[in-house]
Amino acid sequence: MNLKTLLFFVLIVGVQQLYAQENYKTISEADSTKIYRGGEPYEVKTFTQKFKAKKPKKVILMIGDGMGTTHVFGAMTANGGRIFLDNFRQIGFAKTQSANSYVTDSAAGGTALSTGHKANNGAIGVNTDTVAVKTVLEMAEDKGLATGLVSTSAITHATPASFIAHQGSRGSYEDIAADFLKTDIDVFIGGGYRFFTERKDKRNLTSELKQKGYLVLRDMDEIAQVKTGKLAGLTAYEHNDVYPKRTMDLPLATQTALNILGQNKKGFFIMVEGSEIDWGSHQHNTIYLINEMLDFDRAIGKALEFAANDGETLIVVTSDHETGGFTLVDGNPKTGMVKGAYATGSHTASMVPVFAYGPGAEHFNGIMDNTDIPKKIMKLLGL
Ligand code: MG
Ligand code: ZN
Repeated sequence: MNLKTLLFFVLIVGVQQLYAQENYKTISEADSTKIYRGGEPYEVKTFTQKFKAKKPKKVILMIGDGMGTTHVFGAMTANGGRIFLDNFRQIGFAKTQSANSYVTDSAAGGTALSTGHKANNGAIGVNTDTVAVKTVLEMAEDKGLATGLVSTSAITHATPASFIAHQGSRGSYEDIAADFLKTDIDVFIGGGYRFFTERKDKRNLTSELKQKGYLVLRDMDEIAQVKTGKLAGLTAYEHNDVYPKRTMDLPLATQTALNILGQNKKGFFIMVEGSEIDWGSHQHNTIYLINEMLDFDRAIGKALEFAANDGETLIVVTSDHETGGFTLVDGNPKTGMVKGAYATGSHTASMVPVFAYGPGAEHFNGIMDNTDIPKKIMKLLGL
């Protein structure tokens, strides 16, 4: 890379970061392209639509950050016409506008999905008066349910943070990490090790987690071995890498967390995030975006496997907002090729899809506000 190219790249990334007001993993310009040329498709199983319960005891909320309907169809095309989301029969749309903006960010979007309250852009688990509001995860914990968070970003990044932390600003990563210690969350797996260990207040939160009975692990293979107890999986210094470079395995992390949480007889609530769908979309990188969508879909496959076998588990898959104004200008399900085009480097105001599977799924049909989603989950779990 010569100096001119480097400066151009730095400028582009800088402008994007400024515009999006968030930090994310970028990939090198050389890899960047708008055409995904297809890969080896994975097998998609068909799961039962019969469930033993009428109401769920367990809820898996899965958030594809930045995922709009085109992202879903792009992934479908890329995998030969079929993905795990095809198993979902109850489908709706959610409006994503935040309290102070027609176009939301992931903090306000996450807070709407975690608390049922509209928040201002940038706010984490607080209302428009910057007062903390209880999240569905905290309510589940209060009722004795097991709780979990899994994310391909830092676990302190806006989406997972919205479920466990209460901060006026999404950038307060060290304060967000400290908020994890105020809860009794059972399992969390994601990046963000530095915010637990290299802190201005000199606290070492991994030591404090160990004192609270958590197994603190950084290696994915070791994390996947855990069958029981409290687990803090910090798989990256900051964000996990781009798929397939990252060592963190989203489907495996999802499966591991579900098996641990499933031991609680009262049930559980977990949020699983495919974080980097958003980042590929910001960068107009169709390869990055599709790879992340397919990885997220394989995690959905693990959730379906668990839910179909369990019969008391509801899965809700949605998004905090659409990113990129992503559309498809060409594609071929036979080869898996998809060619993307983009309307913006930022988020858009479009409605996002809502997919539900399992007992209670029928409540997620039709057009709703993003804030309705946690309200429905709270009601179904009796929180
Ligand atoms: Mg996110
Ligand atoms: Zn974004």
